[in-house]
Amino acid sequence: MWCWPSILSGLNLRKWFNFRSQLSALSIHEILKQYWGYISFRPLQEDIINAVLEGKDTLALLPTGGGKSICFQVPALAKEGLCLVVSPLIALMKDQVESLKQKDIPSLVIYSGMSFLEIKKTLQNAAYGNYKFLYVSPERLETNLFLEMLPAMNINLLAVDEAHCISQWGYDFRPPYMRIAALRELLPGVPVLALTASATKLVQDDICDKLLFGKTHQRFQQSFERLNLSYSVFNVPSKQNKLLEILKNVPGTAIVYCKSRKHTREMADLLRLNQINADYYHAGLSNDERNKKQESWITNKTRVIVSTNAFGMGIDKPDVRVVVHYDVPDCLENYYQEAGRAGRDGKRAYAVLLYNNKEIENLQEQSAIRFPKEEEIKQVYMSMMNHLQIPAGSGEGISYDFDIAVFAAAFKINILTATYAIKAMEQEDIISFNEVFFKPSTVVFTTNREELTDFEKQNPSLEPLLKGLLRSYEGIFDFPATVYESKLAKFIQVDMESLKKDLRRLNDYGIISYSAQKDKPQITLLQNRMYNDNYRINTSDYLKRKQNFEERADAMIGYIKKSSGCRSQHIAAYFTPVKINACGICDNCINEKIVHISTEEFNKIAEKIKNIGQNISVEDLLTSLKNIKKEKVWQVINYLLAEGKLRSDKDGKISFQTKTSGI
Ligand SMILES: [Zn+2]
Repeated sequence: MWCWPSILSGLNLRKWFNFRSQLSALSIHEILKQYWGYISFRPLQEDIINAVLEGKDTLALLPTGGGKSICFQVPALAKEGLCLVVSPLIALMKDQVESLKQKDIPSLVIYSGMSFLEIKKTLQNAAYGNYKFLYVSPERLETNLFLEMLPAMNINLLAVDEAHCISQWGYDFRPPYMRIAALRELLPGVPVLALTASATKLVQDDICDKLLFGKTHQRFQQSFERLNLSYSVFNVPSKQNKLLEILKNVPGTAIVYCKSRKHTREMADLLRLNQINADYYHAGLSNDERNKKQESWITNKTRVIVSTNAFGMGIDKPDVRVVVHYDVPDCLENYYQEAGRAGRDGKRAYAVLLYNNKEIENLQEQSAIRFPKEEEIKQVYMSMMNHLQIPAGSGEGISYDFDIAVFAAAFKINILTATYAIKAMEQEDIISFNEVFFKPSTVVFTTNREELTDFEKQNPSLEPLLKGLLRSYEGIFDFPATVYESKLAKFIQVDMESLKKDLRRLNDYGIISYSAQKDKPQITLLQNRMYNDNYRINTSDYLKRKQNFEERADAMIGYIKKSSGCRSQHIAAYFTPVKINACGICDNCINEKIVHISTEEFNKIAEKIKNIGQNISVEDLLTSLKNIKKEKVWQVINYLLAEGKLRSDKDGKISFQTKTSGI
């Protein structure tokens, strides 16, 4: 049993009460200034925050890294109580909690992979410890422990991040999200803020419906107009050459997206061979390596990052000049988000997609691969249960280490079939599979101070370790601390192996609870193993998801093959019925305008640009040539850029080249 003092002893109460009294007097602008250091909100943020503060259910569509989290963090700080944040992205949750803690805002996180004891302590702190934020992954919401503690939490707002995951008609359906609706009944009067980067009208309506939004709910969506972002698509014989050409012509920070992990490394090597400062990134690298690579790119030590789509979530680097898709993305939702990472600073930027005809065929064939036949799914299910040696009628709630490659080889199943069959089972709530899973070691004391003193007297050899733990990790008596064995070993001057051995000994004595680092993928059974003849899957939803997948692939192919009409408009029309103006700067817009400009006019404009001088932003250039149609000036600029007669620097400023550089 827990008791009050043991829960609160880890908190610095005075600091907390100061924090509370400071907050209650602050306006949302003062909160923004004090904790984030900004003097004004970005477009839509303030409207979203006000809607939430008025108690309205709200759907907000904002780009990832575009200040989404401020939309729930600021109103939650302006109100009494705790904000419950649901997110499927463990790494992102941890980052956000870390950054809140750095701002001295007490925050907690629960995710799959934590031990029962860790979760229990976290929930108790959420209920009684005066915290402001509790981040949870959706599969935690229905656990008895969570539901038991929920009434004791004073929840002021339910924020649902990546809200498109609740819609099975979207591109990233996650069944545990369906459980959020049941929470609403337990939280009467608590408004819900659903956030996503991109969702079609169908998915938006489904989100509002599934989250039981009230009649007065509000929706906010950033315009799809990106005045400074030029979209283009190239069908080229050599993508490598085209990529090199792009990176040589467009200076400044770049992201190159590839589909395969292996490819990211090869591509980065190729770029380096061509004297382009590049590195690669994917989810298969260790946490440490990923952080280093990311940091180096953010601080401009690395210019080009070649990555799978694991890169970019939660990153807000404003000066990305070009995003190149080396492989065809699966859907416009992903493409729009990834391409949108270019040019957040409002300066000229490029989103380029490279493809060949074979890839279009592959995308058309994808649905047959991604949606295996019902018999195939059943086959994978039965083989997997045999592989894990789970008897029929048992297994619910148990997690198993699961190496999909070993499994597929042992049962001679195509690895893609196995992967997508598992996905189908996940979507039917049969199992859950944590493919990317890393949990650092944690330690929490499970004894009281008197017992600890006695124990130390009886086991003097363990005293340095116990003292080391208490000195290095504040609050470790009440709350699991993330422990890096290497650091701790250095601190108390022992080698790693004996440190780990001693931690296990303390665990066995019941003095601490030590859970060692895990990095193996896990399968968790959400239902007992079904009996062979009883196996079933809901095929009507499954087939509708398949059809939606095919529609998304068609929309992506439509974008790629589109040889006339504005690309910005095409993307906007996919997501919203609200029409936007033609951008004037995508490849199609430029091509369409080319016919309307005479050589004489072209030369006249080129001469003027030359006379205006060096180092000028495109905006200033357009202003100085305001008597000429903007589109015509753009066309000349683009032509001169492509010819190498104009150069744009990493800030997007352009200069006329006195000598042509012969590109
Ligand atoms: Zn356009």
